[in-house]
Amino acid sequence: MPTKTPVTLIPGDGIGPECVEAARRIIEAAGVPIEWEIAEAGAEVFKKGLPSGVPAETMDSIARTRVALKGPLETPVGFGEKSANVTLRKLYETYANVRPVREMPGVTTPYSGRGIDLVMVRENVEDLYAGIEYMQTPGVAQALKLISDKGCEKIARFAFEYARSEGRTKVACATKANIMKLSEGTLKRVFERVAPDYPEIEPWHVIVDNAAHQLVKRPEQFEVIVTTNMNGDILSDLSSALIGGLGFAPSANIGNDVAIFEAVHGSAPKYAGKNVINPTAVILSGVLMLRYLGHFEQASAIEHAIFVTLESGVLTGDVLGYDRGTPTTEYTDAIIGNLGKRSATWTVRDVRPLQLPKIDPAPDYVKATTRAVVGLDVFVESPMTAAELGASLMELTHDTRLSLKMISSRGTKVFPPTGALTESGDHFRCRFIIKEAPGDLPDEDVNQLLARISRRHIWMHIEKLQEFDGELGFTRDQGEN
Ligand code: NAP
Repeated sequence: MPTKTPVTLIPGDGIGPECVEAARRIIEAAGVPIEWEIAEAGAEVFKKGLPSGVPAETMDSIARTRVALKGPLETPVGFGEKSANVTLRKLYETYANVRPVREMPGVTTPYSGRGIDLVMVRENVEDLYAGIEYMQTPGVAQALKLISDKGCEKIARFAFEYARSEGRTKVACATKANIMKLSEGTLKRVFERVAPDYPEIEPWHVIVDNAAHQLVKRPEQFEVIVTTNMNGDILSDLSSALIGGLGFAPSANIGNDVAIFEAVHGSAPKYAGKNVINPTAVILSGVLMLRYLGHFEQASAIEHAIFVTLESGVLTGDVLGYDRGTPTTEYTDAIIGNLGKRSATWTVRDVRPLQLPKIDPAPDYVKATTRAVVGLDVFVESPMTAAELGASLMELTHDTRLSLKMISSRGTKVFPPTGALTESGDHFRCRFIIKEAPGDLPDEDVNQLLARISRRHIWMHIEKLQEFDGELGFTRDQGEN
């Protein structure tokens, strides 16, 4: 008897249990020796009062098995607890989210016949999805978009390694670096820095809004796309729609220690328990898992069986209409019945083991030789006009070490007046610059400035204006010179 590989199995919410059961049955029928550890997460766990949605037993199981196959987990929208999905991805530092999108036989779409076959590689633990948010005033919310050089190096190298493992020839990097020059710009810069290490792969950069446009217009031009977390979330759903919808979109969350495999789709609660949904996305996620575990032959066998099933016209309700689709369980039986058959028309990619990039774990991954503090941004809540606030701040702070350079409202300069018609709310960023000898800003100077501002105004946030190796570590505002 071969030793069984332990895998944590999380049925999840809504349609999750039906999809996960289909995948489990097919993997077992393909003869893969797996010891499933069933574990809980999501809605039922929230109901028990655990705000993370992930109980300790589930965490223990993943820590032991290092591999999980999971169904979708529900997240309340716009209120309530944080996403248990994001929690799982972040707790195990599964920094790479891989989302293959491939045309399927028998699934007719406006793109049929064009050979869409791309992989979205989405950074999975940084960016706006770090979920660090604040109400800065009662009516103004802030979300921090944290992007690290190290995080970008990991995901950029991962994308090239993934391309190598699948014999792909091009990797596109999709960013909004034209606008967010520091955050999104870091991925572009790092991508261009590491690309020469993969000389057989052609690197190219595309602005993310054009990437969305190109994906709809000429999706077959893409092979691998690497992008930041939120961009990747949106682009991958868009891409799934091109090949027949979320029912066909698998994904893998891969880190150095743990990998979690799941469909791109959510819990689709309206279809839960009706035996009508398409389990292919979770089954294909299982195929990705088998390749990760080194079961290449069985992974290919399952992929062929899916192709043969679809080619024979056995299709679920999302493709044919819910009044005519094959029930989930019968569709699963058909795939099991087709194990061992090979599609005559659809090829299965020859995949080599993926080499995870080895990145220096040093916390201060990027070190500056020189650094200087040149000023301080103080975020102030005030019902005044920009002109009134500017006059007040200049009067309050004129004899400190810092002088007011400008005030901005949501990134646009509003003081000194520019002649523009910018509307201001009660949220202002007030930029103070060190008058003489910039380079160091002792806490006493910061405290003095804040104490002066507090005499009349509420400040809620400060940010040091720094230079690293002579490069500005902050952006100028629209209209600021
Ligand atoms: P969703 O559950 O993915 O469903 C959106 C639509 O996609 C469905 O209404 C259905 O389209 C189609 N669909 C999804 N899965 C399908 C399948 N297996 N077979 C056939 N069609 C499928 O997205 P949502 O409604 O925005 O989110 C519902 C819940 O899931 C939320 O709580 C959300 O937070 C959570 N969620 C979880 C994950 C995850 O666990 N990784 C991911 C995304 C969302 P039609 O209506 O056109 O038939």
